[in-house]
Amino acid sequence: MTSIDFNRVSNFIDIPENALRILSKSEKEIKFNLNLLLDRGKMLEADCYVAYYNTVRGPAKGGIRMSEAVTLEETRDLAERMVWKCALAGIPFGGGKSGISLDPNKITFFQKVSVMKEFVHMMELELKSGAYIPAPDMGTSARDMAIIYGETHILESVTGKPPRIGGLPGREEATGRGVMKVTLLSIEEFLKQKPSQASVAVQGFGNVGSWAALFLRQAGAKVVAISDYRGGFYSKKGLNIEDIFKNIKVKGQIPSGVVEGEEITNKELLSLPVDILIPAAIENVIAKENVLEIKAPVIVEAANGPTTLEADAVMEGKKIVVPDILANSGGVIASYVEWRKAKSGAITKVSDTYETIDSLIADNFEKCCHFSAKEKCSLKIAAQAIAVKEVVNALQERAWI
Ligand code: NAD
Repeated sequence: MTSIDFNRVSNFIDIPENALRILSKSEKEIKFNLNLLLDRGKMLEADCYVAYYNTVRGPAKGGIRMSEAVTLEETRDLAERMVWKCALAGIPFGGGKSGISLDPNKITFFQKVSVMKEFVHMMELELKSGAYIPAPDMGTSARDMAIIYGETHILESVTGKPPRIGGLPGREEATGRGVMKVTLLSIEEFLKQKPSQASVAVQGFGNVGSWAALFLRQAGAKVVAISDYRGGFYSKKGLNIEDIFKNIKVKGQIPSGVVEGEEITNKELLSLPVDILIPAAIENVIAKENVLEIKAPVIVEAANGPTTLEADAVMEGKKIVVPDILANSGGVIASYVEWRKAKSGAITKVSDTYETIDSLIADNFEKCCHFSAKEKCSLKIAAQAIAVKEVVNALQERAWI
């Protein structure tokens, strides 16, 4: 099943039959077993999946997820979302993704380094030819990308590297930065409020959630709730995100003993009476079982696919859902700047990174709002229609259809 309901989108744009055939399936999938001999008789094994959903607009771009739960289906779904994200952002990349079925918290530092090196050995031709350009996703980090670079010796073979290893200043926080920008625009456009009047709840305090919460607080918004996989905290008067952020000891985890707020579960966070709800952790957290409990009038999808198709249908016309392909595109926008920088040797300042993200997100937000008002459709359908149209045009221009 695709993340887009092509039937619905085709009410607004023309999707030729052959385009539909191509876009309903992923273009290429690789599955391999990663085996590491740790000692005589002791082996570490992982199933690895790589999916290129579509590369008509450019090489397959997408992060490497390391989690025990990864599957081929999930990898394919995430690769598909990258196709639409790059198309909507106007970035000349196609959509790809990788999954490594290991819990990064259950392997040692040395084992993780070795797993990344082995991943490159198995994917050498794809990476060295530039057919697939990875980046970090859940469970992988800038250091893992630096290891990939160390193995390929090609700076543009991977993005999300540390700034001193050819990375981009501002890349780490880029997705959160974009989430902040699109949230501020939504507060103004849909709620007709100033940031200081809006309350925000953020689920997930990893790379995306923690930076989004920090940037929003710095912009004056009241971040009243945050959570990680263990649960979260709520304070009606707002949480001191700067303090919490400064005290992070383990990436992705809210530091203990710092947060002044009432303890809540992740389920409770989703149904808080806030102006903006930002799911920034995992997929499918807003589903038919809990969609009617959601009180926030605006949902900003910082995670990939946090809302199921059924929940979307229930919310249509009642709530504004800022779709993932728009809301979390700051990361891939910065990745593109990093890739371009690697090719040209240009030096980029953090302010340049922020400026590129802010202006592209603002343009794309405006495009989606305009389409949605003109065609009287949801913002999500508008974003999908713009993205699909862009890909269909590319299919025609490259004579794929
Ligand atoms: P991360 O691993 O840094 O953080 C994930 C956070 O979610 C952690 O705080 C974790 O504790 C929490 N979490 C995990 N399981 C949970 C659960 N069951 N309930 C509630 N919280 C849970 O990951 P990330 O990089 O911040 O990515 C988060 C989401 O954003 C993912 O969907 C990812 O695909 C998407 N995304 C990330 C980027 C990026 O640049 N990192 C870019 C685009 C999209």
